[in-house]
Amino acid sequence: NASLAEADPEVAAAVKAELTRQQSTLEMIASENFTPVSVLEAQGSVLTNKYAEGYPGRRYYGGCEHVDVVEQLAIDRAKALFGAEHVNVQPHSGAQANAAAMFAVLKPGDTILGLDLAHGGHLTHGMKINFSGKLYNVVAYHVDKETGIVDLAEIERLAVEHKPKLIIAGWSAYPRQLDFAEFRRIADLVEAKLMVDMAHFAGLVAAGLHPSPIPHADIVTTTTHKTLGGPRGGLIFCKQELAKKINSAVFPGQQGGPLEHVIAAKAVALKFAATEEFRERQARTLEGSRILAERLSRLDCADAGVRVLTGGTDVHLVLVDLVKSTLDGQQAEDRLHSVGITVNRNAVPFDPRPPMITSGLRIGTPALATRGFEAEDFAEVADIIAEALKPSLDEATQAALRARVELLAKKHPLYAGLS
Ligand code: PLP
Repeated sequence: NASLAEADPEVAAAVKAELTRQQSTLEMIASENFTPVSVLEAQGSVLTNKYAEGYPGRRYYGGCEHVDVVEQLAIDRAKALFGAEHVNVQPHSGAQANAAAMFAVLKPGDTILGLDLAHGGHLTHGMKINFSGKLYNVVAYHVDKETGIVDLAEIERLAVEHKPKLIIAGWSAYPRQLDFAEFRRIADLVEAKLMVDMAHFAGLVAAGLHPSPIPHADIVTTTTHKTLGGPRGGLIFCKQELAKKINSAVFPGQQGGPLEHVIAAKAVALKFAATEEFRERQARTLEGSRILAERLSRLDCADAGVRVLTGGTDVHLVLVDLVKSTLDGQQAEDRLHSVGITVNRNAVPFDPRPPMITSGLRIGTPALATRGFEAEDFAEVADIIAEALKPSLDEATQAALRARVELLAKKHPLYAGLS
């Protein structure tokens, strides 16, 4: 029963170094967050030892009485939080939630209609070498070239032309809200099922700060680790009539034993997501991204070729367009890394550069909001980013920006009790 440090000093050292990295830099990857210590504790618990194929009360293994309690809590809390008729809390990840959801309502070769990966969609929405692109006939919709907004007229035209079995609304890199009622109308027009992948904005929905897709969609999938702030994992919501199909698509369709330690952590995160403290954090997340968009839209930023896609944001992230900048996405990501800010480069719609380089950045505020950042802190971060993205950055300025980042990190300590 040696501790991790005793049993495996190499892994322990890497974990410690990662903790220090998270504490000392500013995390602005839009899909990341910091889970509460209670979530870490649940996930690191003895539940990891338990096999529990099946569902609460209907397991294929003995000794499931305690994991049944945990999984039922996760189910009840998820349903109450999002006002859903049914939920499956077992998907190991967002990608597996999507795989199971499609497995439940599609046959290989059926047509799906999803947002193009290059325009902000996710791999699982029909990328060629993803399971979704290999198993299904993919038709992709796009954003409008001028406005950067999802083109509903194109979606309707493609739906009528290709008669998809499933329309997918949702995104990994898009700074605006989708009109779920309009997606529903188009799906009904061609008798398609509608799936909304709210992986990115689920926390905003839980807080009542983003329209809910639940009343409109046949199936709603999500991850639990982005704005929702829980452990890495997935959830699938659906109407009661699809409940059986979804459950059997997850197990035994896609997965074996559920990760009950992760499900326990999901339950803890879902409890927290129903609190006023969580709602207030989501409000600061949104305020932060609006401040970021505003400050990166200023004239001096535009002069440096930095543009904010769609001119702003309604969600927890900002998409920065560097097509007119001397910096490409890779260089901009490296620049911010050099001053202690972590973001990811991201293709912009109609990107002239290759996917490994890109001409954009995706910058998100959830993790900083979780750290306690307020409006003035987000304004300071925005100004640091704007300065770092100017065409040239000398060493003295870089050091000064890094020092400003360190001040912010010290002002909002993270995981103070962990070592
Ligand atoms: N769906 C969307 C919209 C996502 O952005 C992501 C992750 O980035 C996923 C699904 C997949 O989640 P995971 O990485 O847990 O498989």
